[in-house]
Amino acid sequence: MFVGLDDTDSLSGGCTTYLASLMMDKLGLFGDSEPEDDASLPKNRKFVNYPHLIRLNPNIPYKTRGNGAIAFWVPDGMVDKARELVFKFVAGQARLDEENTNPGIAFVRDYSKLMLLENLYKKAVSEHVTLREVEKIAYEIGAEIYGFNNGRGVIGALSSIGATLCDDHTFELLAYRLKKNYGLEKKIDIDSVRNMNKRMFPKVFDSIDPQTGQLLLTPKGYDPVFCGIRGESAQEVNRAWNMIKIQEEIERIQIFVSNQATDAHLREKKIKQIKPYDCVTVKGVVSKKPTTIQGGHVLFGLQDDSSSIECAAYEPTGEFRDEVKKLIVGDVIRVSGGIGKHTTTINLEKLEILQLAENTKKISPLCCDKSMSSAGRNKGYKCKKCGRRLGPEVAIIRKTKRKAKLGLYVVPPRARRHLTKPPHRPG
Ligand code: ATP
Repeated sequence: MFVGLDDTDSLSGGCTTYLASLMMDKLGLFGDSEPEDDASLPKNRKFVNYPHLIRLNPNIPYKTRGNGAIAFWVPDGMVDKARELVFKFVAGQARLDEENTNPGIAFVRDYSKLMLLENLYKKAVSEHVTLREVEKIAYEIGAEIYGFNNGRGVIGALSSIGATLCDDHTFELLAYRLKKNYGLEKKIDIDSVRNMNKRMFPKVFDSIDPQTGQLLLTPKGYDPVFCGIRGESAQEVNRAWNMIKIQEEIERIQIFVSNQATDAHLREKKIKQIKPYDCVTVKGVVSKKPTTIQGGHVLFGLQDDSSSIECAAYEPTGEFRDEVKKLIVGDVIRVSGGIGKHTTTINLEKLEILQLAENTKKISPLCCDKSMSSAGRNKGYKCKKCGRRLGPEVAIIRKTKRKAKLGLYVVPPRARRHLTKPPHRPG
């Protein structure tokens, strides 16, 4: 049986991954690290598979943080026990009293229609999905869904089961704190993280922001997560974990397999097809030059053969904005990013410069050994010395060197969505 779980936490605490880890521990199913062989399995635990940490559409307004949901597999013979545990844990540990916490549980036993679920996941990771759509699919495939409060959590719970992760995937080791330390400053030896990063990058990534030196593996918040180590394999995140020095007691660790850092959310669309909350990739031509507005955000216009839209590189994207500012009208680019409630702006995650437009500059012609002055807008030139007048067509057009370079630019790790594929990953 597949179990899907979502929306058990709130900003004031809780974490769906932690709940899942506790449940699997109780079921005695999962090891903390990839077993080399049967003998290396912890006693009384049976390795089946890593639980799935599935990130869904990051533009969905109902999310608390990273729109994460959990799915895991339970072998025959443990199904009843698992079902009982899931209800017990959600009832006991989920933040049911909080207004924005709407837990959802899904159980799927018949895998013959997994394709329908996969399609649901592909939509939920990229677009907006309604509760009705989920209920319809659950009915069609005979899945059981249980929603609490407004029931919205079943969207993530059922969709996450559809993420088979057969193609690109990554791993994350999550370390959880003792309850008494929740919300307190995290004690970690920064040098040990730097050393680990030096040795393990790019197999382990997003531990440190290269520009600011900021630690990215220790998220802020009043929740059980101490740190998360992301990488290409379970062995590598486990190796990295053993290299860092933590200066507080850790309650447990759990390795997840995930769609993080895979670009699973991006869909190539024409501008006209864009809907609220979509995650899109659009190819087009720069139609309005970049301008910096108050707050340091950079905006420019993009046009394709269907319509035009504004693109925004917001202030937190830091040095990414410098590349955006180098664009000029006529550049052919491909952008990726998120859409909010209104379909007027793409919030940029990536920029790929495909073709550079020519940058030209009008230069005044010479007369009496000096540059002629302008005779007014579109009125040509006049010589201050001899009084000669010439029309605007005599202007000398000179090509100037472009600062922009062809290539892919991605927002820095500190401003990146969980799902965005870092530029170093082939995937
Ligand atoms: P986490 O803290 O684990 O990173 P989160 O707390 O940010 O995740 P949730 O608490 O899981 O987010 O809330 C997200 C809510 O949005 C859930 O109820 C989920 O079912 C719902 N949801 C997820 N994806 C979609 C989607 N594509 N369309 C509509 N609703 C969605």
